[in-house]
Amino acid sequence: MLDLALDETKKHGAERINRIRLLLGEGGSVVPDSVRFYFDEMKQGTAAADAELEFKTVPLKIRCPKCGTEWGLSPKGDCTQGPFGPEMCACNAGGEIISGQELLSESIDVD
Ligand SMILES: [Zn+2]
Repeated sequence: MLDLALDETKKHGAERINRIRLLLGEGGSVVPDSVRFYFDEMKQGTAAADAELEFKTVPLKIRCPKCGTEWGLSPKGDCTQGPFGPEMCACNAGGEIISGQELLSESIDVD
């Protein structure tokens, strides 16, 4: 993750990263505090040494492959319990996660 930020910095010819904004999926296993902890360890002596992390949560979205119904973490209508914890539609066909599992860098502020 930090590598990605440092690559970006080089690409822009910047000396210093001020801020890194991250998109954090609601359904992912990434905990902001552990990312921050890891980042604080990694950033020492790099262009990101003074950088701050900002997190933005992306809601979990799951889609039924059969009927196309989409749902998130909150229960929905006529449902059976899904494999991901949240409720799913009546097809009981499982679900595809279409967003909310990612950890992405949204933007990076550099000097
Ligand atoms: Zn369905």
